[in-house]
Amino acid sequence: MKKTVKDVDVKGKRVIVRCDFNVPIDDEGKITDETRVTASLPTIEYLLGQGARVVLMSHMGRPDGAPDMKYSLKVVADSLSRHLGREVAFAASPEVVDDNVRAAVAALGDGQALLLENLRFRKEETKNDPEFAKDLAGLADVYVNDAFGTAHRAHASTAGVAAYLPAVSGFLIEKEVKFLGEAIENPSRPLLAILGGAKVGDKIPVIESLLDKVDALIIAGGMSYTFFKHRGYEIGTSLLDEKGLALAPKLLAKAQEKGVRLVFAVDAKVARERANDSESLYCDADKMPADMMGVDIGPKSAAIFAEEIKKAKTIIWNGPMGVFEMANFAAGTRAVAEAMAEADAVTIIGGGDSAAAVEQFGLAGKMTHISTGGGASLEFLEGKELPGVAVLQDK
Ligand code: AMP
Repeated sequence: MKKTVKDVDVKGKRVIVRCDFNVPIDDEGKITDETRVTASLPTIEYLLGQGARVVLMSHMGRPDGAPDMKYSLKVVADSLSRHLGREVAFAASPEVVDDNVRAAVAALGDGQALLLENLRFRKEETKNDPEFAKDLAGLADVYVNDAFGTAHRAHASTAGVAAYLPAVSGFLIEKEVKFLGEAIENPSRPLLAILGGAKVGDKIPVIESLLDKVDALIIAGGMSYTFFKHRGYEIGTSLLDEKGLALAPKLLAKAQEKGVRLVFAVDAKVARERANDSESLYCDADKMPADMMGVDIGPKSAAIFAEEIKKAKTIIWNGPMGVFEMANFAAGTRAVAEAMAEADAVTIIGGGDSAAAVEQFGLAGKMTHISTGGGASLEFLEGKELPGVAVLQDK
């Protein structure tokens, strides 16, 4: 167990908090989805309520290690001020830390907050440069990490800074580690994992380690065609992952050895092109036309998956069943989301596209936990220790 903000005395202390304010912004520079801002509020409100002097920091977008005002965090400071009902000052330096910023931090009173400029305006951030980490640490007495979405990266603000300060977790990271950790280490069984999405090559290590833990595993979405190809099916112009194809026999053998039930789709929606208005039809998985591509699971698969979901007591889902961003290819992903919403089970959504899908279908409130980190939750499920969590003090 990691220490949290509740395990340290923060009254009158300067507390630097790594948040995940990597929010989407439109062409006019407005935030289009404030979920990440609102998700950070419990930790910030707690610290302010305890009389801490709070220094907030985050990255946003990919400014490539140099100032790019398109990615300035000023909009986030405004949004935070609105949500908190009190001003969060913005330390506008493109250097992130300089003498003006140090002076602004020194001038903070108890229960006041300021936000630093985008950390990725400095190339030292992603390089985990010790001097930059020391500069950040110099602004505070205590370090709090609450950015689960970047916890799988060892950057100056997520890992390096912890070498110089007492380091604890915020409520968001605490919640992520609790739900993901319990689901994988001590789940109510049966434990079912559902893996979809496009990149089977990337997900092979996750599949491998899940096979040590789960009772059943659904492999679907863009990953399934690689397994269909291995079976000798025609897969037309569907996604095929050569690396995955080479490793498929090993994964199938491991599933058998571990007694894990592997469940694949039995039908598919196929389209001529990856376009919403493309001609499309349903077919059995082994009868795909050679000039079409799989873009979703079919209704028979959706029913089989829903039955699996009904039987499980813990369900972890990562990756859509089809190209859900296109309305005509979203039915399979929606069916899985609906079955999970109705399940009498702990339901965990592993961030990224599946989280977006669940939001899109208005079912987010029906899930036990929606992870705020796609990559981070996958690495967690893979059994890797996340650098941004590893640096925090144990209880
Ligand atoms: P990933 O990043 O691996 O989770 O993949 C997510 C992407 O996979 C989404 O953008 C989906 O559109 C895409 N996807 C899911 N199923 C399919 C499919 N059957 N064919 C092509 N792309 C798919």
